[in-house]
Amino acid sequence: MRPACGLAVDSNILPPIALPANLASRAGTRIPFELVKPPRIAIFLGCGKLEEMREPVPKSADFMRQAIALALENVRSGNGGPFGALIVQSERVIAEGVNRVTTTNDPTAHAEIVAIREACRALNSFQLTDCDLYCTCEPCPMCFGAIYWARVSRVFYAGTAADAAQAGFDDAFIYGQIRKAGPERTIPMTQLLRDESLAIFAAWKQQASRKDY
Ligand SMILES: [Zn+2]
Repeated sequence: MRPACGLAVDSNILPPIALPANLASRAGTRIPFELVKPPRIAIFLGCGKLEEMREPVPKSADFMRQAIALALENVRSGNGGPFGALIVQSERVIAEGVNRVTTTNDPTAHAEIVAIREACRALNSFQLTDCDLYCTCEPCPMCFGAIYWARVSRVFYAGTAADAAQAGFDDAFIYGQIRKAGPERTIPMTQLLRDESLAIFAAWKQQASRKDY
Protein backbone atom coordinates (compact mmCIF):
# COMPACT_ATOMS: atom_id res chain seq x y z
CA MET A 1 0.00 0.00 0.00
CA ARG A 2 1.17 3.44 -0.83
CA PRO A 3 1.14 6.02 1.91
CA ALA A 4 -1.72 8.51 1.60
CA CYS A 5 0.75 11.29 1.35
CA GLY A 6 4.47 11.31 1.20
CA LEU A 7 7.63 11.41 -0.73
CA ALA A 8 9.83 8.56 -1.83
CA VAL A 9 12.83 8.10 -4.01
CA ASP A 10 12.03 5.41 -6.53
CA SER A 11 15.01 3.10 -6.65
CA ASN A 12 13.81 1.64 -9.95
CA ILE A 13 14.15 4.95 -11.70
CA LEU A 14 17.11 6.11 -9.66
CA PRO A 15 19.94 3.63 -9.71
CA PRO A 16 22.45 4.39 -7.01
CA ILE A 17 25.10 6.78 -8.23
CA ALA A 18 28.31 4.85 -8.26
CA LEU A 19 31.68 5.37 -9.79
CA PRO A 20 32.81 2.65 -12.18
CA ALA A 21 35.46 0.35 -10.79
CA ASN A 22 38.22 1.87 -12.88
CA LEU A 23 37.47 5.25 -11.33
CA ALA A 24 37.17 4.11 -7.75
CA SER A 25 40.69 5.24 -6.96
CA ARG A 26 40.07 8.62 -8.57
CA ALA A 27 37.12 9.25 -6.31
CA GLY A 28 39.52 9.90 -3.48
CA THR A 29 41.61 12.37 -5.45
CA ARG A 30 41.50 16.07 -4.71
CA ILE A 31 39.34 16.86 -7.70
CA PRO A 32 36.11 14.89 -7.39
CA PHE A 33 34.90 13.17 -10.52
CA GLU A 34 31.15 12.72 -10.47
CA LEU A 35 28.71 10.96 -12.72
CA VAL A 36 25.75 13.20 -13.44
CA LYS A 37 22.40 11.52 -13.09
CA PRO A 38 19.59 13.76 -11.90
CA PRO A 39 17.59 12.16 -9.12
CA ARG A 40 13.89 11.57 -9.63
CA ILE A 41 11.34 11.35 -6.89
CA ALA A 42 7.78 10.18 -6.64
CA ILE A 43 5.22 12.24 -4.76
CA PHE A 44 2.23 10.52 -3.24
CA LEU A 45 -0.63 12.96 -3.00
CA GLY A 46 -3.39 12.93 -0.40
CA CYS A 47 -5.93 11.88 -3.01
CA GLY A 48 -4.00 8.70 -3.56
CA LYS A 49 -2.83 9.84 -6.96
CA LEU A 50 0.76 9.06 -7.72
CA GLU A 51 2.67 11.78 -9.42
CA GLU A 52 6.14 11.27 -10.56
CA MET A 53 8.23 14.34 -10.98
CA ARG A 54 11.78 15.42 -11.04
CA GLU A 55 13.32 17.15 -8.12
CA PRO A 56 13.99 20.78 -8.88
CA VAL A 57 16.40 20.11 -11.72
CA PRO A 58 19.91 20.44 -10.40
CA LYS A 59 21.95 23.02 -12.24
CA SER A 60 24.60 20.37 -12.84
CA ALA A 61 22.18 18.38 -15.01
CA ASP A 62 21.34 21.52 -17.01
CA PHE A 63 25.00 22.18 -17.68
CA MET A 64 25.60 18.58 -18.66
CA ARG A 65 22.70 18.70 -21.10
CA GLN A 66 24.25 21.80 -22.67
CA ALA A 67 27.53 19.93 -23.08
CA ILE A 68 25.72 16.95 -24.59
CA ALA A 69 23.92 19.25 -27.04
CA LEU A 70 27.28 20.74 -28.07
CA ALA A 71 28.74 17.29 -28.67
CA LEU A 72 25.72 16.15 -30.67
CA GLU A 73 25.91 19.25 -32.85
CA ASN A 74 29.63 18.64 -33.35
CA VAL A 75 28.90 15.14 -34.63
CA ARG A 76 26.02 16.18 -36.85
CA SER A 77 27.97 19.04 -38.39
CA GLY A 78 30.92 16.77 -39.08
CA ASN A 79 33.28 19.11 -37.26
CA GLY A 80 34.91 16.62 -34.96
CA GLY A 81 34.66 13.79 -32.49
CA PRO A 82 31.65 13.08 -30.27
CA PHE A 83 32.74 15.10 -27.26
CA GLY A 84 31.74 18.39 -25.65
CA ALA A 85 32.73 20.30 -22.52
CA LEU A 86 31.81 23.38 -20.53
CA ILE A 87 33.59 25.40 -17.88
CA VAL A 88 31.23 26.87 -15.29
CA GLN A 89 32.07 29.55 -12.76
CA SER A 90 29.51 30.78 -10.24
CA GLU A 91 26.76 28.89 -12.08
CA ARG A 92 27.61 30.66 -15.33
CA VAL A 93 29.12 29.09 -18.44
CA ILE A 94 32.36 30.91 -19.18
CA ALA A 95 33.74 28.61 -21.87
CA GLU A 96 32.67 25.87 -24.24
CA GLY A 97 34.66 23.26 -26.07
CA VAL A 98 34.05 20.57 -28.64
CA ASN A 99 36.43 18.10 -30.15
CA ARG A 100 38.32 19.76 -33.02
CA VAL A 101 41.07 17.21 -33.64
CA THR A 102 40.36 16.47 -37.28
CA THR A 103 39.24 19.92 -38.39
CA THR A 104 42.24 21.72 -36.88
CA ASN A 105 44.82 18.96 -37.32
CA ASP A 106 45.45 19.22 -33.60
CA PRO A 107 45.60 15.92 -31.70
CA THR A 108 45.35 17.88 -28.43
CA ALA A 109 42.10 19.60 -29.40
CA HIS A 110 39.92 17.49 -27.14
CA ALA A 111 36.76 19.18 -25.90
CA GLU A 112 38.10 19.53 -22.37
CA ILE A 113 41.37 21.08 -23.51
CA VAL A 114 39.58 23.46 -25.88
CA ALA A 115 37.26 24.55 -23.04
CA ILE A 116 40.11 24.94 -20.54
CA ARG A 117 42.06 27.11 -22.98
CA GLU A 118 39.04 29.29 -23.67
CA ALA A 119 38.23 29.66 -19.97
CA CYS A 120 41.79 30.62 -19.11
CA ARG A 121 41.73 33.20 -21.90
CA ALA A 122 38.41 34.56 -20.64
CA LEU A 123 39.64 34.83 -17.05
CA ASN A 124 43.16 35.89 -18.04
CA SER A 125 44.46 33.24 -15.65
CA PHE A 126 46.41 30.00 -15.87
CA GLN A 127 44.30 28.43 -13.14
CA LEU A 128 40.60 27.62 -12.90
CA THR A 129 40.44 27.04 -9.17
CA ASP A 130 36.84 28.13 -8.69
CA CYS A 131 35.49 26.56 -11.87
CA ASP A 132 33.74 23.29 -12.62
CA LEU A 133 34.31 21.26 -15.76
CA TYR A 134 31.43 19.42 -17.40
CA CYS A 135 32.43 16.91 -20.05
CA THR A 136 30.28 14.49 -21.97
CA CYS A 137 32.67 11.63 -21.35
CA GLU A 138 35.13 10.55 -18.73
CA PRO A 139 38.37 12.42 -19.50
CA CYS A 140 41.19 10.69 -21.33
CA PRO A 141 44.67 10.60 -19.74
CA MET A 142 45.75 13.81 -21.53
CA CYS A 143 42.69 15.74 -20.35
CA PHE A 144 42.95 14.15 -16.91
CA GLY A 145 46.40 15.72 -16.60
CA ALA A 146 45.22 19.06 -17.99
CA ILE A 147 42.37 19.13 -15.47
CA TYR A 148 44.83 18.83 -12.63
CA TRP A 149 47.23 21.40 -14.10
CA ALA A 150 44.31 23.81 -14.51
CA ARG A 151 43.26 23.03 -10.93
CA VAL A 152 39.57 23.08 -11.63
CA SER A 153 37.36 22.67 -8.61
CA ARG A 154 35.19 19.74 -9.70
CA VAL A 155 34.62 17.53 -12.72
CA PHE A 156 31.27 16.18 -13.87
CA TYR A 157 31.15 13.67 -16.68
CA ALA A 158 28.38 11.76 -18.41
CA GLY A 159 29.60 8.80 -20.46
CA THR A 160 32.25 6.46 -19.12
CA ALA A 161 35.58 5.43 -20.59
CA ALA A 162 33.95 2.10 -21.40
CA ASP A 163 31.24 3.89 -23.41
CA ALA A 164 33.92 5.73 -25.36
CA ALA A 165 35.81 2.50 -25.98
CA GLN A 166 32.64 1.01 -27.49
CA ALA A 167 32.65 3.90 -29.96
CA GLY A 168 36.29 3.37 -30.87
CA PHE A 169 37.95 5.74 -28.41
CA ASP A 170 39.85 3.39 -26.17
CA ASP A 171 42.25 5.13 -23.82
CA ALA A 172 42.85 2.07 -21.62
CA PHE A 173 45.79 1.44 -23.92
CA ILE A 174 47.41 4.72 -22.86
CA TYR A 175 46.87 4.02 -19.17
CA GLY A 176 48.60 0.67 -19.78
CA GLN A 177 51.52 2.43 -21.45
CA ILE A 178 51.99 4.76 -18.46
CA ARG A 179 52.55 1.77 -16.22
CA LYS A 180 55.31 0.35 -18.45
CA ALA A 181 58.99 1.28 -18.28
CA GLY A 182 59.96 3.89 -20.86
CA PRO A 183 61.89 1.64 -23.25
CA GLU A 184 59.10 -0.96 -23.18
CA ARG A 185 56.40 1.42 -24.31
CA THR A 186 55.02 1.17 -27.84
CA ILE A 187 56.53 4.63 -28.33
CA PRO A 188 59.93 4.09 -26.69
CA MET A 189 60.98 6.76 -24.24
CA THR A 190 64.71 7.02 -23.61
CA GLN A 191 66.51 9.16 -21.07
CA LEU A 192 69.48 11.25 -22.17
CA LEU A 193 71.75 13.89 -20.55
CA ARG A 194 69.99 14.13 -17.19
CA ASP A 195 73.00 15.75 -15.48
CA GLU A 196 73.16 18.54 -18.04
CA SER A 197 69.41 19.12 -17.83
CA LEU A 198 69.56 19.73 -14.07
CA ALA A 199 71.03 23.17 -14.81
CA ILE A 200 67.58 24.17 -16.06
CA PHE A 201 65.90 23.45 -12.72
CA ALA A 202 68.74 25.13 -10.86
CA ALA A 203 68.22 28.24 -12.99
CA TRP A 204 64.48 28.10 -12.33
CA LYS A 205 64.95 27.94 -8.58
CA GLN A 206 67.27 30.93 -8.71
CA GLN A 207 65.03 32.98 -10.99
CA ALA A 208 63.78 35.72 -8.67
CA SER A 209 60.97 36.77 -11.01
CA ARG A 210 59.63 33.29 -11.60
CA LYS A 211 55.90 32.78 -11.45
CA ASP A 212 55.13 29.55 -9.62
CA TYR A 213 52.22 27.47 -10.83
ZN1 LIG B 1 40.98 14.05 -23.77
